[in-house]
Amino acid sequence: MEQTTTRIFSCPMCGVDAPHEVAGELNAVIAVRCSNCGNGSLVRENDLDAFQMRWAEELREILASLDPSNE
Ligand SMILES: [Zn+2]
Repeated sequence: MEQTTTRIFSCPMCGVDAPHEVAGELNAVIAVRCSNCGNGSLVRENDLDAFQMRWAEELREILASLDPSNE
């Protein structure tokens, strides 16, 4: 079964941190399509991973601040 992959990325076209549909990959360059503006972009896998990690880190901090047992 084929599954559509989406990655959070800051769109170079519209500048929004939006989920991007992964259309394909070649030589560590990934073709993605922005779910916000619909434009396609080519991004390096490293950039995508770095953004994803930063974003996950932020999310973890937000979740930690919401956790009442964290006080
Ligand atoms: Zn966009």
